[in-house]
Amino acid sequence: MIKAGATIGIVGGGQLGRMLAMAAAHMGYRTCIFTPEKDSPASHVATVTIVADYQDQEALAQFARQVDVVTFEFENIPPESLQQLQSRVSVFPDPSVLHICRNRLREKHFVQDLGIPTAPFHAVRSLADLREGVKQLGLPCVLKTTELGYDGKGQVKIESADTIEAAWEQLKTGEAVLEGWVPFEREISVIVARDASGSTQAYDPVHNIHRHHILAETHVPAGISDEAAQKARAVAQAIASGIGLIGLLAVEMFLEADGTVRVNELAPRPHNSGHWTLDAAATSQFEQQVRAICGLGLGDPRALCSAIMYNLIGDEVLSLDAYYSNPQAHIHLYGKREVKAGRKMGHVTVLGG
Ligand code: AMP
Repeated sequence: MIKAGATIGIVGGGQLGRMLAMAAAHMGYRTCIFTPEKDSPASHVATVTIVADYQDQEALAQFARQVDVVTFEFENIPPESLQQLQSRVSVFPDPSVLHICRNRLREKHFVQDLGIPTAPFHAVRSLADLREGVKQLGLPCVLKTTELGYDGKGQVKIESADTIEAAWEQLKTGEAVLEGWVPFEREISVIVARDASGSTQAYDPVHNIHRHHILAETHVPAGISDEAAQKARAVAQAIASGIGLIGLLAVEMFLEADGTVRVNELAPRPHNSGHWTLDAAATSQFEQQVRAICGLGLGDPRALCSAIMYNLIGDEVLSLDAYYSNPQAHIHLYGKREVKAGRKMGHVTVLGG
């Protein structure tokens, strides 16, 4: 067990690191953030911050000396840097989990090998592969880079055969995955925690609504049948155990009208669709992450009431009066100085929403 008073190292300085550092502080831990960004959201609330490039060997060694355990809020850490950290200090989740989750093809193979459905897919390394994939999967379909895509970046929907070549050129990548279009009824996600003893706790599935490819709202409960909720939870728990998770894993899924649940994406860290847990669950996802990596035993994930989480994107953060005057609204701002279109500036959870 890593006891209160110890220092948790967090790689990444964004809002997830900020909320994780706040939960850690609440529980009596110190935190050290490693980020290339100056004045990052997490640095405002952490005990110490190291600002350096993710490949800076000396800074990584200094970081490892200062911390008792390492976790991350960001997935695209160079694998060699993670290995370097792991040779000096425990890293949770294990870098092998990141290796799977950072690549859409590896992730899909891993999920399917557990007997869990994903969108039908085809690996694409050339225009000829892409044409073959479209033939097999039909239209519409969606072409995604295998790595580094987020919030709709690094993907193109292909609606007609005459845009295949343009889609391949637009993506400018060596390797991509083509997915058949899933006629989903709802996008849902489940956040699951697992600790070294192998016990798991899954939060209730939530319903996620995206606008312009960015998560806009999360509704809890998800408004789905008990059977679908149970299936979604079981899928998340099977993946957490199968991947050997210690920490937190967010599993984004498509729910189809006939009850089929298909896994879309995995994120081995706290997730935007779990922000509601700060105000409306018995244990927040951030506390749960600290519990999992420090071996404290997992907390109760139960939702205490219904809630809606609204992301504050770009200039939405400039008009908060209606939320401030709503006693059921809990406002969380991330301390980002510059408002930019598409940037996640904060979120609000409205209880009983
Ligand atoms: P992703 O980056 O994979 O999470 O995709 C972003 C969003 O695009 C998803 O949240 C869905 O709304 C939509 N999307 C992605 N892949 C598919 C698919 N295969 N079928 C239907 N919708 C998809």
